[in-house]
Amino acid sequence: MRIDIITLFPEMFEGPFNHSIIKRAKEKNKVEIFLHNLRDYSEDKHKRVDDYPYSGGGGMLMKIQPIAKCIDFLKSERDYDEVFYTSPDGKILDQPTLNNYSTYENIIILCGHYKGVDERVRKYYITKEFSIGNYVLSGGELAAAVFTDAVVRLIPGVLGDEMSALSDSFQDGLIAPPAYTRPADYKGWKVPDILLSGNDKLIAEWKLEQSIKRTKERRPDMGDIISD
Ligand code: SAH
Repeated sequence: MRIDIITLFPEMFEGPFNHSIIKRAKEKNKVEIFLHNLRDYSEDKHKRVDDYPYSGGGGMLMKIQPIAKCIDFLKSERDYDEVFYTSPDGKILDQPTLNNYSTYENIIILCGHYKGVDERVRKYYITKEFSIGNYVLSGGELAAAVFTDAVVRLIPGVLGDEMSALSDSFQDGLIAPPAYTRPADYKGWKVPDILLSGNDKLIAEWKLEQSIKRTKERRPDMGDIISD
């Protein structure tokens, strides 16, 4: 998969993209991530990328010209499955949607900043908008990093244990069961006996039961997520 991220703050990705799973995925050539600094595409002599909104209202808007130039350039090089915009009024990300995106070959993610982008960008360039929740961030960079992390770990061969992404919460409409590691007894707080029994069938049944119980208790809304 190739991910092109268009941003005013490429440095914001240095932490999240250079450690752990994303780092490993890049090393294994499972993903290529390119950061494009929008300022490099500005034709303004002061390299401006923002301007005042018509009719006032406070705050600045990202101009269409640099964004258009960057996206046009990328699209002239290859086809893209989707041109995403990070937006608080986009569709909130969920696991089934991300599973689907993880099969894509090339995507662009445009990160907004300030008050957002000129509406014509959304109308003429963006094919899909996503939100990471019903709250407002200062910019789309953290949302793009969340998206990238969630998608990249689903690409086959990225996670060491092939099954581990499938057994995570949300994958089968259930959240994950409780999990324990050694020691079996810590200050008298014990790991459930069943997990030490070695009986795979009973353990699988117990895990499923626990998942169902947890989902009912903690996320009764999850019917909405799985039916999406
Ligand atoms: N004026 C806009 C908010 C701008 S916030 C509004 O009222 O909708 C600045 C930028 O941060 C946005 O353009 C968007 O790219 C990004 N952003 C903010 N909240 C987000 C969220 N919940 N999910 C994804 N991106 C978000």
